[in-house]
Amino acid sequence: MAPSMTLAITAKAKELRAAGEDVIGLGAGEPDFDTPEHIKAAAVQALADGFTKYTPAAGTPELRAAVARKFERENGLSYDPQQIIVSSGGKHSCYNVMMALCQAGDEVIIPAPYWLSYPEMVTLAGATPKIIETTDTTEFKVTPDQLRNAINENTRLFILNSPSNPTGSVYTPEEIKALGDVCVEKGVLIMSDEIYEKLIYGDAKFQSVAGCSPEHQAHTIIVHGLAKAYSMTGWRLGWAVWPKKLIEQVIKFCVNNHSCVNAAIQFGGIAALDGTDDSIDYMMEKFSKRRKLICDGLNSIKGIDCSLPGGAFYAFPNVKGTGMNGEEFAKKCLHEAGVAIVPGVSFGKKAVDYVRFSFAASQDDISQAIENIKKISQ
Ligand code: PLP
Repeated sequence: MAPSMTLAITAKAKELRAAGEDVIGLGAGEPDFDTPEHIKAAAVQALADGFTKYTPAAGTPELRAAVARKFERENGLSYDPQQIIVSSGGKHSCYNVMMALCQAGDEVIIPAPYWLSYPEMVTLAGATPKIIETTDTTEFKVTPDQLRNAINENTRLFILNSPSNPTGSVYTPEEIKALGDVCVEKGVLIMSDEIYEKLIYGDAKFQSVAGCSPEHQAHTIIVHGLAKAYSMTGWRLGWAVWPKKLIEQVIKFCVNNHSCVNAAIQFGGIAALDGTDDSIDYMMEKFSKRRKLICDGLNSIKGIDCSLPGGAFYAFPNVKGTGMNGEEFAKKCLHEAGVAIVPGVSFGKKAVDYVRFSFAASQDDISQAIENIKKISQ
């Protein structure tokens, strides 16, 4: 498997910092806010109350019920809490999906640019990633025709990620439905990674493919988690919503794999889901400003072309006009401007001319990063 370039760059930036260099980290997809106090308090209270033992492998009934309430309240989707299997982050749920569903001979369709863990997980399960290339002419969105042409008798799964990491693209509800229609027609399951659901800007609108019709819902496994929206990256808490007929097998897999997720943090999860979203509103206000700041700043640099992302917290500019490809540009940024970013090739080999900036960083850091890059671009 390939190592995670995002984590490698974050580690390199830390190393340079430890050696006394000033490095601004715009590589990692990690909100720079603290976890809201009421969430922390719930986990601390759970520890004080003695919740220090194994929980059921699929998660506590209370957390699974809180997740089901979230889907009902926010997405109009009814699920039996039994269908929800809690995991150590959204990443763990993606892995569970691959291990539960895929084996040698299976193909998993992944639109590129993609979150870099998807193909590695598919390969780990013994299956083959089938990459569909997209370009900025469709805002890096896969079309129903592309999807239909990629499906064959070996297709096991289609991975949909909106809002997207790394491009920040958000599919419209109509686009989501059209892709779901193809999967329903062809009998293909969808893994819908909705981890950035709450990070949406301007006119963009989040739509879960499961919400398009009961048939779409039956073809969809939603993967989700608290890391991004509640600033809970280090807590490791997520879940997937499984079709009823798979639950028993997946629970057996969990029992023999990780036993259960940390007991006390599951109480933090309930507090997050049932509590106020004020912290998200606050964070989104900041992210909206940073989105504009970083895109305007990048567009003011000769040779860089950056569209406004509709969601998540990533800007994905084309840097071809600088005379460098994405990898050369990212290296120069790190070593000469002291700014850590991720080259586009990490997210698919055709994205050579792109780089990913995370704007989950302070406005001061973003402004300084733009200044530094401007200097080395003259
Ligand atoms: N899915 C996507 C698209 C992501 O970008 C990430 C994290 O970067 C995850 C899933 C995993 O998130 P978690 O921290 O909950 O494992």
